[in-house]
Amino acid sequence: MRRYEDSYKQKGLRKQLVDSILQKGITDQSVLAAINNIPRHYFLDTAFESIAYEDRAFPIGEGQTISQPYTVAYQTQLLEIKPFEKVLEIGTGSAYQACVLAELKAMVFTIERQKRLFDLVKLFPFKAKYPNLRFFYGDGYEGLPTYAPFDKVLVTAAAPMIPEKLLQQMKVGGKMVIPVGGQEVQRMLRITKVSEGDFEQEMFDNFSFVPMLAGKKA
Ligand code: SAH
Repeated sequence: MRRYEDSYKQKGLRKQLVDSILQKGITDQSVLAAINNIPRHYFLDTAFESIAYEDRAFPIGEGQTISQPYTVAYQTQLLEIKPFEKVLEIGTGSAYQACVLAELKAMVFTIERQKRLFDLVKLFPFKAKYPNLRFFYGDGYEGLPTYAPFDKVLVTAAAPMIPEKLLQQMKVGGKMVIPVGGQEVQRMLRITKVSEGDFEQEMFDNFSFVPMLAGKKA
C-alpha cells in the first residue's frame, strides 16, 4: 500500500536527507533541489514510511530496490542534465530516479524489464505532474531505437559490460553514466561520445547495484 500525503515532518526529514547528501559531496544545486522536491515515501510501501528518508536502498518487490538517494544524486550529477535533453534510463524500478530526471526538465524515456514493476509504475498518480516522462516495458540492452538518438543515457543496474546498442543510440557529444563490473561491486563510468565510433571514458567511485539482466520478464 502507498500513501500520497506529504507532511511537515516528512518535508523536514527530506531537508535533512538533502543536507547529508550535500555533505557526502553532491554539490549540484539543481540535483539537490530535485531530491528536496520529490516525496520519496510515495515510491515505497507504507511499511517504509518512517524510514523513507534514510540514505539507504529499500526493497520495492520482485527482488529489486529503490536506489540509495546518494547514488541517485551521484549518477544524476554526473549526467549534467539540461532542460529538454532526451534521456534514456535503463531500470525504471520504483520510478524515483526517473522522476528526479523529469524534475530537471529532461525528456525522460525509462525502460523496465519486469512486467510487474512496469505495471506498478503505471498506477503512479503523479504522471500528470511529469508529462515529460514516458514508461516502456522492454530489455534495456536493446535501448529504444525508435526514439534514439539520446543526449544522455543512464543505467541504474550493474552492467557486466557497456552495451553496444546503447553506445549506438547516443548523440555525438552525448554522455552515458553506467556502473560496470561484477555481482558484488561496480565502477561508475561516464562515457562521452566524441564522434561516431569514438568514445572517451572517465572512472569514478565504486557502487553496488542489482544486476542488469538480459531479456524481458513477464
Ligand atoms: N532506477 C530505479 C532503480 C531500480 S533497481 C529506481 O529509482 O528505483 C534496477 C532496475 O533495473 C530493476 O527494477 C530491474 O528489474 C531493472 N533491470 C535490470 N536489467 C534490466 C534490463 N536489461 N532492462 C531494463 N530494466 C532492467
